Amino acid sequence: MTVRTRYAPSPTGDPHVGNIRTAIFAWALARANGGQFLVRVEDTDQNRLVPGSVGRIMESLRWLGIEWDEGPDVGGPHAPYVQSERLHLYRAAADQLIAARRAYRCFCTPERLDAMRAEQAAQKQPPGYDGLCRGITAAESEARGRAEKHVVRFAMRKEGQTALNDLVRGEVVFENRLQDDFVALKSDGFPTYHLALIVDDVDMRITHVLRGEEWLPSAPKHLQLYEALGHTPTLFAHLPLILGPDGKKLSKRTGDTALLDYRENGYLPEAMLSFLAMLGWSLDDKTSIIPPEELLRSFSIERVVSNPAVFDIQRLDYLNGHYIREMAPETWRATVAEWCERGLPDTVARPVNAEVIAAAAPLLQERTAKLSDIADTVAFLFGYEAPEYAPAVLVERAGGEAEAVRILDAALVTLDGLSEDGWTRDAIEAAIRGLEGELGLKLRKFIPVLYVAEQGKAQGLPLFDSMALLGRQRALQRLRTARAHLD
Ligand code: GLU
Repeated sequence: MTVRTRYAPSPTGDPHVGNIRTAIFAWALARANGGQFLVRVEDTDQNRLVPGSVGRIMESLRWLGIEWDEGPDVGGPHAPYVQSERLHLYRAAADQLIAARRAYRCFCTPERLDAMRAEQAAQKQPPGYDGLCRGITAAESEARGRAEKHVVRFAMRKEGQTALNDLVRGEVVFENRLQDDFVALKSDGFPTYHLALIVDDVDMRITHVLRGEEWLPSAPKHLQLYEALGHTPTLFAHLPLILGPDGKKLSKRTGDTALLDYRENGYLPEAMLSFLAMLGWSLDDKTSIIPPEELLRSFSIERVVSNPAVFDIQRLDYLNGHYIREMAPETWRATVAEWCERGLPDTVARPVNAEVIAAAAPLLQERTAKLSDIADTVAFLFGYEAPEYAPAVLVERAGGEAEAVRILDAALVTLDGLSEDGWTRDAIEAAIRGLEGELGLKLRKFIPVLYVAEQGKAQGLPLFDSMALLGRQRALQRLRTARAHLD
């Protein structure tokens, strides 16, 4: 059996991280088994379509390096891969179900359905269609079907149970008496997700459906549809929920945003892929960083867990830092240049000075977690004055105004003693370390004040290197400015 999986997004907006995690798992499963992965656009809910989503969905996949064998853009033997272009197939399936009496036309008006729901709520009964149109004879249904607006409902079996053998959760049993005669084909001729999914997964020879846990309650509908249409169901794997570190459903605040926002915010695709791949799956008990080749070689559903995965941004930052440190120096330099071009204030001349970039890049590589932090970290290298800061920060860092004055004066005297030629990183370091004895303070106690003076904040690029980069005149001028703030 050739493993065939699909990613079936609805173009209702930019895909978020959880949705893309599903795509990654489906892609990895196909690749790990030498199978095929396809993309299918599920645009049956015409009211919810958002223009541009399909492009953003594909851009998200491409950014992560995900490749598909069949899809709306590349075509394939089961084209079209867009559901709104396949309506005749769903219509034919609905007709087949009606002929077999596994589906029926429902003529109930929205008003009747509203009244029915209100009544059910008042009686504290579970909501669901009451089956009024199920009893209409075939002849009457056909005749009315030609003249009246209607939907097609699937006639669920109401006795017994429907059992799903889920690849992640094992056996899950559903009571049929609780099932509803759901709408399979809407009055506008568009199918619902339930019908379209089955028709397409059969036609496209899908073997494994990987999807979010929120679809688990719909599984009995899908299994009964398979049976009624005379097809063997695909295998199903319902993937675990993704929770925030607060243990609650992932929200915008805890990281549930569009995948491409992560690109904007300075994450590398390798880090994102490795991070998302491990939300619910692991290679073994010890590997914490998964290169893409390893994922595509080793992914298996056996190692997907059913309990929720935690979306921990700090882990993503850690992975991003790891992949940044792995970058070749030239690639890293080009990346730094790109993010400086983008992020430095307009007051900095463009193109951004390549020498400064080249000097700062190795220092940045060790300590950058997100590419979007780069511009802010190096901004101090570009102006004559330090970036603006509140003078109170100097005082606070020193632990008092008099202390701040004492530290800055001592630094000025010592550093002023270095000549233009002697203004090297090592000489600066020696001079500043020499202040420990003179001030009677450990380096870590007074160095934040010098950071603020030079860089506008109490931490940043290593101080000695950056003072060397600034040059004697600028570095000393910044100390004088800081000192002047305190008078
Ligand atoms: N269109 C559905 C969604 O975006 C697909 C679910 C599935 O993979 O079957 O949630």
